[in-house]
Amino acid sequence: MIHYSLICENDHKFDGWFRNAEAYEHQHERGIVTCPVCSSTKVDKALMAPSVSRTKSEKVSLSIGHPEQRELRAAMQALRDKVVSEADYVGDKFAEEARKIHFKEVDARGIYGEATREEVTGLIEDGVDFMPLPHIPKEHN
Ligand SMILES: [Zn+2]
Repeated sequence: MIHYSLICENDHKFDGWFRNAEAYEHQHERGIVTCPVCSSTKVDKALMAPSVSRTKSEKVSLSIGHPEQRELRAAMQALRDKVVSEADYVGDKFAEEARKIHFKEVDARGIYGEATREEVTGLIEDGVDFMPLPHIPKEHN
């Protein structure tokens, strides 16, 4: 289990529990992560603070078998493939390069790479608009 502190467009802060980071992204992209106060679907992570669930009784909503889940997985796989084939790989320099792009110190371009949690937190604080690159496990059919 992963915990995110979430915040909506109206500054309501609330807690979200997800199976993993990918499950959050799935639900967020489909607009089904909603603010419990105002029902807004314009929701974002207040800070990246994943932590492991301390009790075994906490529950999350899950589903399986809907055709759209397969479509979403295919779409995310396609997105990942597209990013990996078209964007520049910058390795450990992701945070540095993302910041340069965000602050328009260099021309905008697609990049991907790795960052530490500390660097990710820094990027969020600086308002840099980036997203996790989905890791899609191969489907077993
Ligand atoms: Zn709200």
